[in-house]
Amino acid sequence: MGRVYNFSAGPAVLPESVLKEAAEEMMDYRGCGMSVMEMSHRSKMFDTIIKEAEADLRELMNIPDNYKVLFLQGGASLQFAMIPMNLMKNGVADFIVTGNWAKKAYQEAGKYGKANKIASSEDETFAYIPDCSDLPISEDADYVYICQNNTIYGTTYHKLPDTKGKTLVADVSSCFLSAPIDVSKYGLVYGGVQKNIGPAGVCIVIIREDLIPEETAKYVPTMMQYKTHADADSMYNTPPCYGIYMCGKVFKWLKSIGGLAEMEKRNIEKANILYDYLDSSKMFKGTVRKEDRSLMNVPFVTGDKDLDAKFVAEAKAAGLENLKGHRTVGGMRASIYNAMPKEGVEALVAFMKKFETENTK
Ligand SMILES: *Cc1c(COP(=O)(O)O)cnc(C)c1O
Repeated sequence: MGRVYNFSAGPAVLPESVLKEAAEEMMDYRGCGMSVMEMSHRSKMFDTIIKEAEADLRELMNIPDNYKVLFLQGGASLQFAMIPMNLMKNGVADFIVTGNWAKKAYQEAGKYGKANKIASSEDETFAYIPDCSDLPISEDADYVYICQNNTIYGTTYHKLPDTKGKTLVADVSSCFLSAPIDVSKYGLVYGGVQKNIGPAGVCIVIIREDLIPEETAKYVPTMMQYKTHADADSMYNTPPCYGIYMCGKVFKWLKSIGGLAEMEKRNIEKANILYDYLDSSKMFKGTVRKEDRSLMNVPFVTGDKDLDAKFVAEAKAAGLENLKGHRTVGGMRASIYNAMPKEGVEALVAFMKKFETENTK
């Protein structure tokens, strides 16, 4: 059996050239007689892998020198706790709740300090991004938190909120490296890599150095202090070596295609193919406000649960996998991350057109 077009929200599709390269290097990484999975994380070989990965990421994202890049474990979810534990100096943070992931971060932060929900789109099942031009930012807020791309609901911030001078913290798990961002606008930007960069098990945190506290509250475990990992260049303990190696390959792939500006161009082109069809279809409807649409996650419905289920099953049989929507939304969701080729989106739209014709009386 050949490869399918995989529309999974995560873990998700990776570039084929990267997978092939990893396969070729599996038994014997560059003449060292072992796999990257088997080598010491203190070896010269691995030191080169992690240093190159960081350098390539810095180049791709144009990360300023006063930011640390940390390769951590625990997924994006661990950051829901680590961020308040390290960044709450006044014990206060403001949250814009635009979906399940933002809500989880908001709830978790409430365990360590005062978490204020300053805006939310829950009233319409998170189908839009609230107006963030004049938010009631708390005077003593240590930071303002957003989830930049809402994986489940398919919305994204096309413009960052006005934080009125407060530090912006963003979860970019599902839009990581999908387009250029200005890192200097954030105090901390992070994401689990399994959506758009690599295998599950790595979480990348990019943090401005002055935000890394010398000391945290007594209860904060050593492993959950940014300082621990920043001082040790992500090598305090055994890092997720193989995952970092795979991320490094994806960084090189991104550089080879022309970097993030080119990636964004391709992502816009891909998303437009799908959105244009959704806007013209009589059967399928996009579920979010047009101006807040994500380039990465595209939820849609027919309005009929049975028809949705039939669509997902027939699509799977046609080699279009993982199109079932999140359990909280229902319907369908096509995640069209960086590594999804344009041909995959074209195949999906062709299939949707055929399905619409066949199922319209
Ligand atoms: C998937 C996802 C998470 C959770 O990631 P884990 O690595 O599983 O903890 C958090 N935030 C966003 C935006 C996500 O898409």
